[in-house]
Amino acid sequence: MALKANNFYLYEAWDRAPVSIPPRSRLFHLEPIGIGTAHTEGCTSYIARLAAEHHVSAGSLFTHELAPASKKSYLLPSNSKSIKSVLSTSFYPATPSLNGLGSTARDWVEILGRLTLQRDLRFLTMLRWQNVLTDRSLSRSVRAWCPRCLQDQIRSGGPIYEHLLWALSTVHVCPVHETRLEDRCHCCEKQVRPLADRSRPGYCSRCDSWLGNASQKKKETSVDLRYELWIANQMGKLIAAAPTVVTDPPKRRVSEFVPNCINKITNGNGNTFAQLVDVNFSCAT
Ligand SMILES: [Zn+2]
Ligand SMILES: [Zn+2]
Repeated sequence: MALKANNFYLYEAWDRAPVSIPPRSRLFHLEPIGIGTAHTEGCTSYIARLAAEHHVSAGSLFTHELAPASKKSYLLPSNSKSIKSVLSTSFYPATPSLNGLGSTARDWVEILGRLTLQRDLRFLTMLRWQNVLTDRSLSRSVRAWCPRCLQDQIRSGGPIYEHLLWALSTVHVCPVHETRLEDRCHCCEKQVRPLADRSRPGYCSRCDSWLGNASQKKKETSVDLRYELWIANQMGKLIAAAPTVVTDPPKRRVSEFVPNCINKITNGNGNTFAQLVDVNFSCAT
């Protein structure tokens, strides 16, 4: 605004100091869902949602953005005319490990973080527990889901996403609905990889059907189901606790934990403890 004084107009001075502009992310700064809860989103779900935000398929996003950013030579197209997605070719066997705790999860979390400038993406994997859990068979090789959870998401108008918990091969039931997870599309009856070219959270990557149509199974009350619910709840607690643990628990926590259990539960008798937990004596000690 100009002020008039003594026949002169006085204009406010420009502040010519450089404006501080926060760094811009190459890809959309997509917020991950549910961190700090048992319903944390899985890394594969995050990639599929990120692709949807960019209006491209998961295969395109992976092939044309994530793979080049990884600088991994085996993922780069051998010639510029190559149209095949790396998700359906060279990276196909590794897709389950994206949700796990090994080098695959570590590498791609770093790449995704670099491209989206989201800092907490490692909590979409099991990386927090890399020193105390084994990567062997931790991640399910095919996609699994709870139709009722998906239906709840769509009913509440919330974003559709898939839980990290569903990606763990030890988890077979949904702790919320106490029903078994499904891993076969009710429409095409196929199983699919956790991340495929046409992956969209909540939809079959083969036939595009909505996966939230629950089959009308009655609630199970068997002992097995109770045990599986216990496992699902424990794994959910681990996933929820990951951001609150300051550092990755070291290996010695396990080596200290087992002798403590033997001392407390069976008065130091390793043989009795091994029988109690149904493992070989040498495993327990
Ligand atoms: Zn559920
Ligand atoms: Zn299908």
